Amino acid sequence: MLPLPQIIRRKRDGGRLTPDEISTIVLGFARGEVPDYQMSALLMAIVFRGLDTDELRAWLDAMVRSGTVVDLSHVPGVKVDKHSTGGVGDKVSLCLAPLVAACGVPVPMMSGRGLGHTGGTLDKLEAIPGFRTDLPVDRFREIVASCGVAMVGQTADLAPADRRIYALRDVTGTVESVPLITASILSKKVAEGADALVLDVKVGDGAFMKTIDDARRLARTLVAAAHAYGKPLTALLTRMDRPLGRAAGNALETIEAIEVLRGGGPADLVELTLALGAEMLQLGGRAAGEAEGRARLRAAIADGSGLERFRRMVEAQGGDPRALDDVGRFPRAARRTVVRAARGGWITRIACEAVGWLNVELGAGRRAAGDRVDPAVGFEFERNVGDRVERGEPLVVVHHRDEPAAADVVRRLGEAIAIGDEPPPDVPLVLERIDRSGDPGGRPARATHLRSSRRRDSAGRRTPPPWRRRRVG
Ligand code: URA
Repeated sequence: MLPLPQIIRRKRDGGRLTPDEISTIVLGFARGEVPDYQMSALLMAIVFRGLDTDELRAWLDAMVRSGTVVDLSHVPGVKVDKHSTGGVGDKVSLCLAPLVAACGVPVPMMSGRGLGHTGGTLDKLEAIPGFRTDLPVDRFREIVASCGVAMVGQTADLAPADRRIYALRDVTGTVESVPLITASILSKKVAEGADALVLDVKVGDGAFMKTIDDARRLARTLVAAAHAYGKPLTALLTRMDRPLGRAAGNALETIEAIEVLRGGGPADLVELTLALGAEMLQLGGRAAGEAEGRARLRAAIADGSGLERFRRMVEAQGGDPRALDDVGRFPRAARRTVVRAARGGWITRIACEAVGWLNVELGAGRRAAGDRVDPAVGFEFERNVGDRVERGEPLVVVHHRDEPAAADVVRRLGEAIAIGDEPPPDVPLVLERIDRSGDPGGRPARATHLRSSRRRDSAGRRTPPPWRRRRVG
């Protein structure tokens, strides 16, 4: 193989990588033989130049070959997993996975840590005292069989190339790339042994894909690449132009997901959980259609079986199950500061990506590889986009450490929330569905209007749906 600097330059200048080069670089990096600085440079070249279909295939293949592909043939039924491309306040996996398992579909879930400005399922789970996400493969297989659900991270055996590349992308500004996101997600999903997948492709200011066109491109790439591995994949394109639910921060989000399992939780979080869960139950053969899927999931909330699954999984993965009944057992921040509305009016915008980065500044995410996250810090939104507020009313409660830097975060958080005289146009939660054929078609975008009555201008005229205006957020 040519010296790596020459290969990096070729990609930088728009050339192609050969399958052998890709395999040597990806596997070499997973083994620690390729230095971080060269991999970072190559990743940045890929962010700008992309990978074509053959390069992506070779990249994904090498990432899968870097570790074990888990054999789950001892677990009966179709194993279905869900993954999100990342957002702010997106704690859906935590309530969704046990609910789907309670409905009879096994969920082997390999997730990620915080990435860029977005939070990560592993960091949220680890807010539960004692919870371990770095399980050996055999223990992962046992827990999927006994609990119907296990939630783990990449290890030296499981998707090790993604473990290292993901951590590097998080701190080198190399996240926003369709091929890198596709390979990262699917290498985990192939390795974990899932038979079918549901993808939550986030769209808007708080997502990596800011426009519906970019999100479609990502969804189609994911569908095609998953098919090459024989995995049916359904993608929902969903709104990420505002925080999902009320909480953004690791312990706060885990507590909110538990509220959903208890039958409460914010309406948007519950709705997205049901929408994604209904897709998973259909792929898993446990629901003939969306309505039946939703009804089953609601029943698993009402009879407590979803919460019970979560409890069993938490216990099996070393976590303290008492935290599910007593949130006082979660880590708590030393200080709370309330951000109040500077004027009355309608909340027209929350700069969602900025909010995610402010959370990283508070300590909820990493600034450098190897940083430890603070599970206790974060934001609780008292109001969200589309809500009416009066001057002086609380907008956000900031959970933070007692340090001067937090004061600056509090000030900039206030600036990230815009209040206007008119209610903003409504944006559906689920924008579009792209199914196994990769055809967006426009259906079954069972477009879920949480506040559809507000999609009118000041004269009461209906405004065009935002997904027709291309940019979401
Ligand atoms: N989730 C992943 O696992 N990887 C990405 O690159 C983005 C979201």
